[in-house]
Amino acid sequence: MICTCDNCRFTYKRIGSYKYCPDCGSSRIREATAREKKEYMDYRKEFYPKQQLA
Ligand SMILES: [Zn+2]
Repeated sequence: MICTCDNCRFTYKRIGSYKYCPDCGSSRIREATAREKKEYMDYRKEFYPKQQLA
């Protein structure tokens, strides 16, 4: 599940039952929108072009 923090807008892949933003520690996280997921994937591709996206 890809999540976005409503506090700092950090988007990340949630693993397990991670309930807090890894960037700012806020619990105001929600599932990312389609647009945010796409941005996350584009960002990953830029930095890890040779890795397979899960
Ligand atoms: Zn945050």
